[in-house]
Formats: sequence, C-alpha cells, structure tokens
Amino acid sequence: ISATNIVVRFPVNKQWTRTWIRPVNGVSFSLERGKVLSLVGESGSGKTTIGKTLVRILTPYSGDIRFQGENVTNIRGTRLIRYRDHVQMIFQDPFASLNPMRTVEQHLLFPVRRKTGQRGSLLMDHINHLLETVGLIPAVDIRKKYPYELSGGQRQRVAIARALATQPEFLVADEPVSMLDVSIRAGILELLKKLRDQQQLAFLYITHDLASARYIGDQIMVMYGGKVVEKASAKELVFHPVHPYTHLLLEATPGSAFKGPLPETQMAAPDLSEQRRGCVFAPRCPYVMGTCREEEPNLQEVSPQHWAACHLVNTGA
Ligand code: SF4
Repeated sequence: ISATNIVVRFPVNKQWTRTWIRPVNGVSFSLERGKVLSLVGESGSGKTTIGKTLVRILTPYSGDIRFQGENVTNIRGTRLIRYRDHVQMIFQDPFASLNPMRTVEQHLLFPVRRKTGQRGSLLMDHINHLLETVGLIPAVDIRKKYPYELSGGQRQRVAIARALATQPEFLVADEPVSMLDVSIRAGILELLKKLRDQQQLAFLYITHDLASARYIGDQIMVMYGGKVVEKASAKELVFHPVHPYTHLLLEATPGSAFKGPLPETQMAAPDLSEQRRGCVFAPRCPYVMGTCREEEPNLQEVSPQHWAACHLVNTGA
C-alpha cells in the first residue's frame, strides 16, 4: 500500500466563520507485505486520521492512495466494499468496537460467510479456526460468549479475529494495546508479530509509545501536527534520533537510557490551520531559528534510509 502527499481537512466553525484545519498535511509512505510500520506521535498528531484514511473510512482532500497498484483514493460502492476485504482496522477500545448484544460467533458469521460462501459445519469450523489463530481456546466455548463475559485481552483478540475474517493483506492497528492491562499487552503484540510472520500481513501500528513501536515495527514514522517529522528503521530512529521532537519522545519513554540535551519546553498544541507558516514544531522547539517560523522544512535524507524534516539538518548541527 502506498500513500502520496495525503491531505485530510475538516471544517471548524469559529465565531460565525468557517475555517479549515488539516489534521493530516502532506503525508507520504509505502509499505510492503510482511512489514510493520509504526506510526508514533502524541494525541492530535494525525495518526488515527491517517489510519482511517487508508481503510477509507475517511476520504482524503487531496493525495493518492494505491493498493496493489490500484488507485483507491476515491472509490465507492462495491469497489470500496471489495477493497475493505483486503484492508481492515483494529480499534483502540475492544469493548466499544464489539456489539454487546451479539455473541462472538455472531460477530464472525457475516464476514466469514460473505468472504467464503460457507454454510453449516464448514462455516463453524472456519470460525473455530479463526478463534484458535488468535489464541482463543477452546474456541467452541468462546464462540457462545458475549463481549461482557470476556476479559479485555480476549475482547481485543475477538476484534482481531473479526478483522482477519475477510483474509486481509493489510491491517491498521490503532493503539491496540493502550487500553489493556500491562500484563496482557505483550501477548497481543506477540500475536500481531505472529500474524505478520505466518500470514505475511502488513501492519500500520499506531501508538504513542516508542517502546512498543520499536518492539514490533520494522520502520518508525514520527508525526507531529499532521506532518511526518522523522522516519527511519526502528533501531536507527531509537538510537540516532535527529528531530528535536523525537528527542523529546525518547526522553519521555519510561526506562529509556536516552537523555538528550533538550531543556524543558513549553506545552503548546500544534497549529493545524491552513494559514500556518513555517515548522509545525516551532512553538515548542528549543532550537527554533528565524527561518523555522517562515519556511516549512521538508523531509530530507540525513543518512541512508533515514529522513527528518528540520532546518537544523542543513546547518550540519
Ligand atoms: Fe526546531 Fe526549526 Fe527544526 Fe522545526 S525546523 S524542529 S523549529 S529547529
């Protein structure tokens, strides 16, 4: 799947006038089968909006999304339904993403039947197999349970099973472990890794936690204020961060040995308005220069396969 220069914009009403904000502003990347791209950033950085745009819950204002060579940016109707068989999303809150009035079996019946055309015992065998794949054993017992009868981890596994029911090739996992107990997070991350390896699934793993981003991701992309500010292999980004915002994220990671030279910075929500000029991180950046407030920095390659959007790159600092 590839995204080129994706822009998403929403209207906001301010004192009787309508203005537009861009929660995603010119994001590009591509992802191959069997690879995991971790998308990291704080709340409001545009991570979830990008995920929803890729599975076409949202339509981008401009830019291009291609899946297996096909342009899916503006598809509708049956083409969109067919596309959603290939790309699925796992949401943050497993309780909210399951219908409390339906059993696990009822959640899986429709997508499996539609995808495979199976009926009767074949259909039940398929559902059992799906539940076993995500570690819900014995599947025959789990099938009959309602979401409130399951633990948080089990509910998230059901949500993953439902996402797998259409046999997708690409999954967006939107903070899939952030609402779970710490003790069961590792199990879900292990499951995602297993699915990547065994089924050659590609993942966009959305998180605000650099530790899990590194654990599961082949590459990490850091977003701030709707822009990609840094992108590199997981190891390179964690050990050789370039962008001041990535430095801040690393310093804020519990247990991180990384202690950069950054002083405390002021908290300020990024300006997402269309009229914004210059670097989106400028109001919080301790290294801000005159050019930062005037010119927006582009992503530049700072070392092989490592890109950062910061004017400091040009100064050699
Ligand atoms: Fe800071 Fe300027 Fe780099 Fe933006 S471009 S991160 S304001 S130094």
